[in-house]
Amino acid sequence: MSGRIRDEDIALVRERTSIAEVISDTVTLKSAGAGNLKGLCPFHDEKSPSFNVSPGRNVWYCFGCGAGGDAIKFLMDAEHLSFVEAVERLAARAGLQLSYVADDRSAPRASRPQQGQRQRLVAAHAAAVEFYTAQLTTAGARTAREFLAERGFDRAAAERYGCGFAPEGWDPLTRHLRQLGFSHDELVTAGLSRPARSGSLIDRFRRRLLWPIRDLTGDVIGFGARKLFADDDGPKYLNTPETPIYKKSHVLYGIDQAKREIAKQGRVVVVEGYTDVMACHLAGVPTAVATCGTAFGGDHIGVLRRLLLDTDAVAGEIIFTFDGDAAGQKAALRAFEDDQRFVGRTFIAVSPDSMDPCELRLAKGDLAVRDLVARREPLVDFALRHVISRYDLDTVDGRVEAMRRAAPLVAKLKDQEKRPEYVRKLAGDLGMEIEPVQRAVLAAASGRPDDRPTRPSRGEPSVDSPQSMVEREALKLALQEPVLAGPMFDAVEANDYRHPVHVVVRAAIAEAGGAAAATGGAVWIESVRDACPDLAAQALVGELAVEPLRIDGEPDPRYVSITMARLQWGSVTARIRELKSRIQRINPVNNKDEYFATFGELLSLEQHARALREQAAGGL
Ligand SMILES: [Zn+2]
Repeated sequence: MSGRIRDEDIALVRERTSIAEVISDTVTLKSAGAGNLKGLCPFHDEKSPSFNVSPGRNVWYCFGCGAGGDAIKFLMDAEHLSFVEAVERLAARAGLQLSYVADDRSAPRASRPQQGQRQRLVAAHAAAVEFYTAQLTTAGARTAREFLAERGFDRAAAERYGCGFAPEGWDPLTRHLRQLGFSHDELVTAGLSRPARSGSLIDRFRRRLLWPIRDLTGDVIGFGARKLFADDDGPKYLNTPETPIYKKSHVLYGIDQAKREIAKQGRVVVVEGYTDVMACHLAGVPTAVATCGTAFGGDHIGVLRRLLLDTDAVAGEIIFTFDGDAAGQKAALRAFEDDQRFVGRTFIAVSPDSMDPCELRLAKGDLAVRDLVARREPLVDFALRHVISRYDLDTVDGRVEAMRRAAPLVAKLKDQEKRPEYVRKLAGDLGMEIEPVQRAVLAAASGRPDDRPTRPSRGEPSVDSPQSMVEREALKLALQEPVLAGPMFDAVEANDYRHPVHVVVRAAIAEAGGAAAATGGAVWIESVRDACPDLAAQALVGELAVEPLRIDGEPDPRYVSITMARLQWGSVTARIRELKSRIQRINPVNNKDEYFATFGELLSLEQHARALREQAAGGL
């Protein structure tokens, strides 16, 4: 193909294209009255739909970010296509043959940008699918067929998902595609072939079972490849590398088959592997998708939210299935950290006997798979159970610590109306009164980490407040100078820290064995980092491990002592104020015991405060 597309053809493509259909491939649209449609804008992050499509005028426009145009512009923006690629894509869709004219206005051919690169890469993949599926029926592919059969997939299932086999040999696919006219560069760019050390081109996938991975519109853009033979020393799964058309952070296996049902049911089931997607679909859970060789992340959420039309008014449901092992549980809790907007609508389905959906279908049938999804549990319930299970609830310390860890999860609930319900549930699970649990949740919600009564909330303490600075300094000492600072650091409790992320890092240090037991160095930093439950805390550990201490010269015990005293000062004085106010409210005649207990606590705290003041001033 040379030159540019004839203007008449471009006009014809515009005329024959249904803009609503094109956009519906990636964005779920609903009626906005007067024949117009609306959905969540793919070009900016929003919760209520301001992305409008007018099929009558063949245009779209976003009132949120100002983007807009026709179907060609949409494909260019949404799929990062060139103008020519977008027109070619729409022409193929409408069944139109394009003609090209020599373009005198443009630069010489060699320096023009590649035309229709996406089209070529998609065509190469389509040819590769044909090649690989034909290979699956050959004698050499017996192990691949057995692999599928052993997992309950018959020939029809293999065909529906386009399963294929990459044969023995260095370059059978490469030679085949070269014969079809694909260039060396195209095959490398597509990720189908790679240069060997000798310089000649060889196949990326060899002796493996293959699943074609499709985008939302059904185009094959890559492959997932499962190892079959013991003497294959590659990883269990190999995927297409990042290419101009394959972005693993966006790709969801099965999305092309699942998208209509996802939009219709307002629900998506996220599973872990290709066979799990197949098993779910075949078992009557048509909304299943899987990530391909990467963790479920923010970009995946973006893709799904637009399909789910996930707004404040319409709640889409996202269900993660896990086979109950530790890795799965960790992934579930990470999902909790990832996107708070999703928390209230996120569910976990943990299969019995640690089986994945594919194994479950095989062992117990289709009904068991549907049942797994039906028995989903809100992510919050799952996370609470997981956190609580780490503590010994038979001891007071265990119950209190479990409450402190669990309270922030309840406080994070987006749907605040659900909080009282979870406070009651948590109190029941812990065997505690409702009142302290409620206080702990309120404290966590207002950015304070402990169960002391709250003053009017002013949000999180700012990072450069004196309290935050001294907290940072204490954590730096524990990370950088554990031998020096460890014992004094460990003696100060987590509830003396105010800033939420500092509380998390303080807890991670305790979980890593405490600073007093550490000998320092990279191993110590790494073990603290591993104990952090979220990325923000991990990043902070990295930062604090190298940030210079705020002292000229070497830190000494006196400096540690001053730092720890200043750290506690804020919470001790706040507690003293609170106790004084409570004593005024207690009627000593009716509540003699409470009065004296509170009074006793106040006296000892004031003594503690005096000691701290001396310590902070520099005396040991
Ligand atoms: Zn927008």
